[in-house]
Amino acid sequence: MSFDLHAVVRPEVRAQVPYQTGPDARPGPLVKLDANESPFSLGDALRGELAAEFARALADVELHRYPDPTAREVRGLLARELGVAEEQILIANGSDEAIQLLQMVVAGPGASLAIPVPTFAMYAIGARAMGIRVAEVPLDEHFNLNASRFLDTLRREQPRLVFLAWPNNPTGNLFDPAAVEAILGACAGRDCHALVVVDEAYVHYSGQSFLARLGEFRNLVILRTLSKIGLAGIRLGILIASTEVVREVNKVRMPYNVNALSQAAARVVLAHGDVVAQQAAVIVKERERVLAALGTMPGVRAFPSRANFVLVRTRHPGDTVCAALLSRGIVVRNFSHAPHLADCLRATIGAPEENDAFLDALAATLGPGRDT
Ligand code: PMP
Repeated sequence: MSFDLHAVVRPEVRAQVPYQTGPDARPGPLVKLDANESPFSLGDALRGELAAEFARALADVELHRYPDPTAREVRGLLARELGVAEEQILIANGSDEAIQLLQMVVAGPGASLAIPVPTFAMYAIGARAMGIRVAEVPLDEHFNLNASRFLDTLRREQPRLVFLAWPNNPTGNLFDPAAVEAILGACAGRDCHALVVVDEAYVHYSGQSFLARLGEFRNLVILRTLSKIGLAGIRLGILIASTEVVREVNKVRMPYNVNALSQAAARVVLAHGDVVAQQAAVIVKERERVLAALGTMPGVRAFPSRANFVLVRTRHPGDTVCAALLSRGIVVRNFSHAPHLADCLRATIGAPEENDAFLDALAATLGPGRDT
């Protein structure tokens, strides 16, 4: 007798390719530009005051008690910052969890969701695992939304959920707000009934948000995260929507989904919006510098970005370029086998010296002045 794992694992799960988190890029000398994190550690010497506050906040945490199940203090800080009611906010274990909770809310016989492609992989991965059909609508050659094609898909597929990353990952661009509005309107009962998730993970680098439109669209859900602004390690995602939507999503959330240490760290950082804003400004400046440098590099096409990363297409095979960069100590994300992204890599904007190292390594990889 031998146990047959295949007999118990659902075919949708067996068919999945696991989400790629990249090579284990922990050793010191590597320049880690593969996961869109912030290069700035909020606890380093320059921010000693902040580090001391972290230590105090963490020391006060009652580790023998369960954490606050609804992260009330964190939601209170966010409600004030964002100008919404606390009841409109749900705190998740990273926005990945918020994505999964939304999928759980709509899953069931006949459920489908619609996404543009290419986009953030977790929208489809979680959905497929739950048996939700995924309708993919290709972006155009500039990675913009083709609104009429998207609306056709909505009418045909009648999805319950739409995910739009704004800016989009891995392409970096902001879709035309008019196209997003058209989708919101179509999903508000005109063409179908769907929650439209505007995922603003990179809002600190785009400076643009749909938050002010929450009152107008009852089907709008906004996602934010602390991962891109220096706290990827604590896993804290934010869902903002109408109180009715938040009430339903809360029903499928595990009661203690965000641990007490993460809540304490989030409280400290949320009270220091100025530090976050300063660091974001440095990254935005660096992004423009990197884009300008890439623009002068032969054999390279860099796509415009409003996020903390840039998507780059090279005329050399993507695998070769990424391997050559790695041999020079630079870790980027290889998208060259993803649909629509042949020979593309995505590089996170790091600290100035990291960006220099990336640019130097890419130039050396592609060869001096050689038209690749
Ligand atoms: N949404 C988008 C668009 C992302 O790019 C990412 C991270 N790569 C996430 C959500 C997940 O972020 P978190 O760390 O909050 O789970």
